[in-house]
Amino acid sequence: DFAKSKTLLQQRQYLPIYAVKEDLLNIIRDNNIVVVIGETGSGKTTQLAQYLHEDGYSKYGMVGCTQPRRVAAMSVAKRVSEEMGVTLGEEVGYAIRFEDVTSEKTIIKYMTDGILLRESLRESDLDGYSCIIMDEAHERSLNTDVLFGLLREVITRRRDLKLIVTSATMDAEKFSHFFGNVPSYTIPGRTFPVDVLFSKSVVEDYVDAAVKQALQIHVQARKGDILVFMPGQEDIEVTCESLTERLEELDDVAPLTVLPIYSQLPSDLQAKIFQKTPDGVRKCVVATNIAETSLTVDGIAFVIDPGYCKMKVFNSRIGMDALSVFPVSQANANQRSGRAGRTEAGVAYRLYTLNQYKNEMLVASVPEIQRTNLANVVLLLKSLGVQDLLKFHFMDPPPQDNILNSMYQLWILGALDNTGQLTTCGRSMVEFPLDPPLSKMMITAVEMGCSSEILIIVSMLSVPAIFYRPAGREEDSDTKREKFCVPESDHMTLLNVYQQWKANGYSSTWCNDHFIHAKAMKKVREVRAQLKEIADQQKMPLVSAGNDWDIIRKCICAAYFHHAATLKGIGEYVNLRTGMPCHLHPTSALFGMGFTPDYVVYHELVMTSREYMQSVTAVEGEWLAELGPMFYSVKESAKSRQEKRK
Ligand code: ADP
Ligand code: MG
Repeated sequence: DFAKSKTLLQQRQYLPIYAVKEDLLNIIRDNNIVVVIGETGSGKTTQLAQYLHEDGYSKYGMVGCTQPRRVAAMSVAKRVSEEMGVTLGEEVGYAIRFEDVTSEKTIIKYMTDGILLRESLRESDLDGYSCIIMDEAHERSLNTDVLFGLLREVITRRRDLKLIVTSATMDAEKFSHFFGNVPSYTIPGRTFPVDVLFSKSVVEDYVDAAVKQALQIHVQARKGDILVFMPGQEDIEVTCESLTERLEELDDVAPLTVLPIYSQLPSDLQAKIFQKTPDGVRKCVVATNIAETSLTVDGIAFVIDPGYCKMKVFNSRIGMDALSVFPVSQANANQRSGRAGRTEAGVAYRLYTLNQYKNEMLVASVPEIQRTNLANVVLLLKSLGVQDLLKFHFMDPPPQDNILNSMYQLWILGALDNTGQLTTCGRSMVEFPLDPPLSKMMITAVEMGCSSEILIIVSMLSVPAIFYRPAGREEDSDTKREKFCVPESDHMTLLNVYQQWKANGYSSTWCNDHFIHAKAMKKVREVRAQLKEIADQQKMPLVSAGNDWDIIRKCICAAYFHHAATLKGIGEYVNLRTGMPCHLHPTSALFGMGFTPDYVVYHELVMTSREYMQSVTAVEGEWLAELGPMFYSVKESAKSRQEKRK
């Protein structure tokens, strides 16, 4: 009701940060670096940048604010543009990978930490900014951690730059210490007590348990909205469907608005979580980690926490990163519970036992820099002239093995030479805002004469979720999808989709008819245009392979040859380097066609019930053998297979 009845200005003045505005600005005037601590929802993200602008800093450069998450950057910029009464993209804008909504006029810029990191490549002193707010520092995202090290240097060169590091948790001391014992300021909180209830027994099916809990709250409890955490999009979709179905089965129950939120959700649907429901209608938001601290939904009185989140973690067993579901840390669990007590006293239902909380959850989660592949970071730092990465000033240094492993990957891709220096190829790779294997694919494609096709494939891979499969029409959509399948390659299947879309005049109706997200395809086209621009700048010509599709597969092989697998049994592959099993996913074109080639390469591994390869292309053993001595054994087996055939 508050949002409905109060003006935006009144809402701003009600935020806890407003009461300490002058204090904060004074401490920022007197210090170059300040750490600001405040509970989620206190107004750090939306207000700080505006205060700095009001205090005149934007006269000397932009006020930049980094976010670990794309959704947060977009949604907060939109909110702030409304609060300031300006058009989004003008005075207030945002930039995320492949999407720059800023202009000459922009004075407050929200962006992902990855964007600022790339900007530092072009402009190492970040001269365009008068202030930089490193928001959500407690998240310790990989890019934020790298920025910490870089900004620590920038600030010694630029005495006029203000750096503000914000965090929702009390780890201020660590940040303050890292920057040379700089002052920290805590925004006094205004929170209400939250009753934390643990599950009495171990929960087997957290989706089912969460749905039941939400319904029980809805039927029995007083007013107040519900926030359910889920690890990822699939679980969120199932939860929402199941909630809606079971609500229909119940007679005489008050209406409940069920709203999903995750990063791939179209932005108009994302915005819905902030809208007030009509009187007497309860809201249930089903969210990923994004609602833990990045986005604040007002009016939440009940939190349901299954205790899981999705994380990309380097898996030494398979020798690469894999996205999997892990238990959250105790710190995350406490943040989640806190979401119930922002506007009134609340209740948090934890779908795990007290024993699990105490004995199976880490106290705090491991920073991303210590658990993921660092190839991209190594490439960036090398091109910034950081020679010895083991000496770079990290807040928490990554394990040495991890750095060496990433350097090895860059070496086999030809980005680093034998002495660890950046090669010409490596320099060219840095120009593309892509993961190293994909930038390598772009460069190889020019040499091999298929850059026109590879540009499309890379763009398609950069926009996930092209196909959809509506409930009740699964068969229909699967049949349509199969028509696009190129039996030997998911990558070529993606190419085929794009080419047919193009042949149909880039039509949205055509997309809808084929269960393809029209918005996603539009995005692919934009990404393609941006990557083409980078290719043009580097004088990389677009050449088409024509009908020679083997060349395209060979090019894919060259970029992914460290992700190669060989056939072991029916539909079962083993990684060539590690011998670990990996499987064709049922949505793969190869699976659908019942085609099981001796060798494949794949884009990434996804761990669910088993290790699944995502985006798979059939390759020849001889190609793999050509690409490096570490595949000598492939050469052997390729030969012996040939002999056997003879
Ligand atoms: P913090 O960064 O300290 O967690 P924020 O500045 O994000 O706090 O949030 C302050 C207030 O602004 C909250 O009440 C939140 O609900 C509101 N808010 C933030 N983003 C939006 C948005 N996109 N739409 C509506 N309200 C928003
Ligand atoms: Mg915030």
